[in-house]
Amino acid sequence: MALLDVKNLCVDFHTDQGTVHAVRDISFSVGESEAVGIVGESGSGKSVTMYSVMGLLAGNGSITGGSVSLNGQEITESAFPDHKAYEAAMDQIRGNQMAMIFQDPMTFLNPVVKIGKQITEVIKNHQKVTDAEARARAIELMGQVGIPSPEKRLNQYPHEFSGGMRQRIIIAIALANNPKLIIADEPTTALDVTIQAQVLDLIRDMKEKMNSSVIMITHDLGVVASLCDRILIMYGGKIVESGSDREIFYDPKHPYTRGLLQCVHNPEKKEKLKPIAGSPPDLLKPPAGCPFVDRCPEAMKVCKLYMPEVTTYSATHQCACWLEEANRRKGENHG
Ligand code: SF4
Ligand code: MG
Repeated sequence: MALLDVKNLCVDFHTDQGTVHAVRDISFSVGESEAVGIVGESGSGKSVTMYSVMGLLAGNGSITGGSVSLNGQEITESAFPDHKAYEAAMDQIRGNQMAMIFQDPMTFLNPVVKIGKQITEVIKNHQKVTDAEARARAIELMGQVGIPSPEKRLNQYPHEFSGGMRQRIIIAIALANNPKLIIADEPTTALDVTIQAQVLDLIRDMKEKMNSSVIMITHDLGVVASLCDRILIMYGGKIVESGSDREIFYDPKHPYTRGLLQCVHNPEKKEKLKPIAGSPPDLLKPPAGCPFVDRCPEAMKVCKLYMPEVTTYSATHQCACWLEEANRRKGENHG
């Protein structure tokens, strides 16, 4: 059984302009101690997917279809008798069985509460411990995430830490209750390049030490390269390709995945990065066919009309694109 199982998930947002279909029928799972990357541009639905899993959708957002289960337990609101029961269950799950590392530590940390108290509170919310035990655990966690002289720094406020150190504190808080699943949403985007690498190393180390599963959400394929076993590529609210790290990096099938790979900075090559021209589809009126059609260098007539069929290349590698079908037909005609 997978640790996390998402099936046919659909998420809508109600806005003044109409209904935005942000996530459109996606399915994936995450196994025990597996690291999965969800990669796509902003607006692709990657963060919305994970906020849905955590039960943290904004007030105008709702899951309109599908299921999410953690360890075999259904955790979408529709599985609970009422909203109160759902919130109570999620309070037990969040920060305990699954924890989230956010992009901007300052939106998560309380600026007027000392760091030590913010860590011990998360521990005490889920574990029966004395104040002294919680404090000792906080010091241990701060040491583990590489914060020097934790005993002294326990009494400091968030603004007294650098951006990189604050992200380490967020990681310490996420790890506080030994979660089975850690969800990191663009955890290094706000940091400079050297610190980014250190924070990614830390997440990798912690994952290995604690044997937990990780979902890494990012717009940058480079970020998931060394961390993730499996990668999902999202575009226009759909998963357009999924594969092992090797399959995605060495045998990408979807034109969008290939485009993303050209945006990855390679320090060995002095090539210029090629951003993908154009902008993502308007999910107020999702396209009938392939969501990438307006930007795809290989688009065909069929792409605009019909949603691409999914081709399976291996047990881990799938891609939704009409090219495979077109190539097969060409082969038939010539053979
Ligand atoms: Fe491009 Fe067509 Fe494939 Fe979409 S289905 S990615 S438009 S070739
Ligand atoms: Mg996002």
